[in-house]
Amino acid sequence: MPSSSLSQLTEKLIAFRDARDWKQFHNPKDLATALSIEASELQEIFLWKNPKEVAAIVSKKQTHIKEEVADIASFLLLLCHELEIDLVEAVSAKIEKNAAKYPVDKAKGTHAKYNEL
Ligand SMILES: [Mg+2]
Repeated sequence: MPSSSLSQLTEKLIAFRDARDWKQFHNPKDLATALSIEASELQEIFLWKNPKEVAAIVSKKQTHIKEEVADIASFLLLLCHELEIDLVEAVSAKIEKNAAKYPVDKAKGTHAKYNEL
């Protein structure tokens, strides 16, 4: 997603928030908490389901899953806004860092942590 799209989404979220006078609640701690809660709501959809049930739920509850993903992204964008983090730059930098920690010749096909490669 181009960063201009992320900027536009963030502007929409800010407009939505400010129209409701919710900025007062959007401190980094509570935004991080809300982000975690929304991630848990996504996990709850799959909780206790076996792989076959998960496959069925992915198609049956696609709208619900999409909404939880949107909630997660919304709080992440709002948190980045409050902390002045450029999400595209931050993710790009982390990919580079992880590429150094997980060289392809050692990490390919394994889920081992970098210190166990
Ligand atoms: Mg939700």
